[in-house]
Amino acid sequence: MAETRENDLVEESESVFWLKSEGQKRLATINYVEGNQVYGEKLIKKGGDEYRIWDPFRSKLAAALTIGLEIFPIKSGTKVLYLGASTGTTVSHISDIVGYNGIVFAVEHASRVARDFLDRVASFRPNVVPILQDARQPKNYFSIFGKVDVVYADIAQPDQTEITITNCKMYLKEGGYLFLVIKTRSIDVTRAPKKIIEDEIKKLEPNFTFIQNIDLEPYDKDHALVVAKYLGKD
Ligand code: SAM
Repeated sequence: MAETRENDLVEESESVFWLKSEGQKRLATINYVEGNQVYGEKLIKKGGDEYRIWDPFRSKLAAALTIGLEIFPIKSGTKVLYLGASTGTTVSHISDIVGYNGIVFAVEHASRVARDFLDRVASFRPNVVPILQDARQPKNYFSIFGKVDVVYADIAQPDQTEITITNCKMYLKEGGYLFLVIKTRSIDVTRAPKKIIEDEIKKLEPNFTFIQNIDLEPYDKDHALVVAKYLGKD
């Protein structure tokens, strides 16, 4: 077999790519805004496309993809509701993936990080709709239209699962997917992380079919990403 050279494309799925860079296989997306860097990530030109390296230590979704996701329903054209956009590291890669025909409604309530998010991500990307609101008040997302295919939630709140379920009931289409990041230390520092995750998954049971629970170690300690399919309201 021929040896892979630096920057060779070693693998590709419908949505994400694996490139050989700095001697390692690295996750990447095709840059939706050529030349635009969001968080100092490496840009690599190859075959007419520009790839952005997606760092699993900076994004829990990249960590989950690196560890092994059974399904990845975010593709070109997907509509995503993202809770907890922060400065937009992960949102920017989802924006790359969903492309011209998709959209990311990105909710963030902290005005300081939201300003960075607007400057670095939303102002360059027409497929990102910033929503400066509290995820506890989903009725206030006036710019959302229709239902979404995927809800991604990473808000690090003690009641994050309840908040996320309320958002899904309002905006996720039946048969759509939930990606829920569980930060166990935000829920309870005294209980075992494994037990906390089991209890959070139980809360999803009436409305979701459980698909996968990924422990994000070694990229994030005491964090899990849970994937589930939405069955609709009770
Ligand atoms: N998902 C981000 C990424 O991968 O780049 C990191 C998210 S960070 C762990 C959590 C974010 O959720 C913070 O920016 C915080 O301000 C936001 N957040 C927490 N509670 C929220 C709420 N009730 N409504 C909206 N955003 C919230």
